[in-house]
Amino acid sequence: MKIIGRAIRLFALSAAAIVSTTTLAAEPVAAELAQQGQDLAWWIVEDLTTEIGPRQAATEAEAAARTWAVQRLREMGFQNVREEKFKMPTWVRGEEQASLIGPFHPQKLAIAALGNSAPTGPKGIEGEVVYFASFDALQAAPDRAVKGKIVFIDHKMAPTQDGSGYGTYGRGRFTGPNVAAKKGAIAIVIRSIGTDSHRNPHTGVTNFDTGVKPIPAGALSNPDADQLVRQWTRAQAMRPASGHGDTPEALRMKLLLTPRNLGQQTSGNVIAEVPGSDPAASPIILACHLDSWDLGTGAIDDAAGCGIITAAAKYVMMAGQPRRTIRILWAGAEEVGVFGGKAYFNAYGKEKHAVAMESDFGADRVWRVDFKLPDSAKSLTDRISAAIASYGVVRGKDPAGGGADIGALVAAGVPAIDFAQDGTRYFDLHHTPDDTLDKIDPVQLRQNVMVWTTALAILADSSDTELP
Ligand code: ZN
Ligand code: ZN
Repeated sequence: MKIIGRAIRLFALSAAAIVSTTTLAAEPVAAELAQQGQDLAWWIVEDLTTEIGPRQAATEAEAAARTWAVQRLREMGFQNVREEKFKMPTWVRGEEQASLIGPFHPQKLAIAALGNSAPTGPKGIEGEVVYFASFDALQAAPDRAVKGKIVFIDHKMAPTQDGSGYGTYGRGRFTGPNVAAKKGAIAIVIRSIGTDSHRNPHTGVTNFDTGVKPIPAGALSNPDADQLVRQWTRAQAMRPASGHGDTPEALRMKLLLTPRNLGQQTSGNVIAEVPGSDPAASPIILACHLDSWDLGTGAIDDAAGCGIITAAAKYVMMAGQPRRTIRILWAGAEEVGVFGGKAYFNAYGKEKHAVAMESDFGADRVWRVDFKLPDSAKSLTDRISAAIASYGVVRGKDPAGGGADIGALVAAGVPAIDFAQDGTRYFDLHHTPDDTLDKIDPVQLRQNVMVWTTALAILADSSDTELP
């Protein structure tokens, strides 16, 4: 018998006892269930990371995760549990080595290739390192400063509670390689988009424009980036006054990356429902993503999100049948280009959805709520805000943005709510080998699930005059 199955059965007994002895409305009952529940969200993360582990989209591991997901969602009592497959381009990591080879004593650096990086070839490449303090500095540089060299982008990311630095610092990874390739660089290494000081590189996807030939692209851990900067600074000081050109004093790097493109492979979304009592009412959609990067076990990104939305839906289901259908989407491929969210939108984008919500920012506590609801939902937003205020959640500045996997729905006008999680330590772990179960704080995760459960119970019984 599976541990999670046992935990759910134990939980079902205690929940039945609570429901039968109370006449409260769904919201407090659901919250009470979440509080008394056996940490269902934690168990989902534990189970997925233990039995499957890393699950890069469209690989055999992600297919195994989908089989696991369908089985578990059925065991938990969800209805209409199904896999919806789609094809997507698939890139996989190979060997990865980087060393600084001159003018100082050679040293190895901790590096990880970025998704969609080109290979260096089996023998690797060598070249002069050209330093840029930020993505903007690279963008401003003339082609001749870059051509034939290995670009390095510095710019250490600072932690923030709302994670808002990701957009600015992230450009070094999202588009830095594309810019460097267009300027004629032979490769690019960036300082990881991360806030930790461990020797863990942070991977993640990068994209090259159509017509731009991809170059090898990798991320160095923060301490290795520091080391590169110190060597580059000394090498610069040793150069003749003219300063430029590939002189013997130039900082040189050897790079070996052997990733492969596997072409179109199969990924898939897993969808499950808590059917509502009113078949005419539009459903609520809750999203997370099942795929993960390959370096860690994908506990915070995004097994935690799947645990949170699923536990909330399960607790609301146990408190009594909701009026609206609750649909949960475990998207099969978010990391490498939101292919799962696009596939969902292609299949269901024309249907009416009452509201969309996504959990994809780790497992720490919710501290703020943002809404993007119709004017008719004023009293609904007040009810939700008041109910979750007791968990320390404040109203933010609307409108909510949604998230990657529900992005297309929100862009098409579906109302959205964001539960902003504390992101102070998220980018210490994000896309690193350190994204593992032990980093999940059960106390914060419990608060997170309480907030989701409370809000979901209110939304699930909202009227058709409040939401579409
Ligand atoms: Zn994610
Ligand atoms: Zn991610």
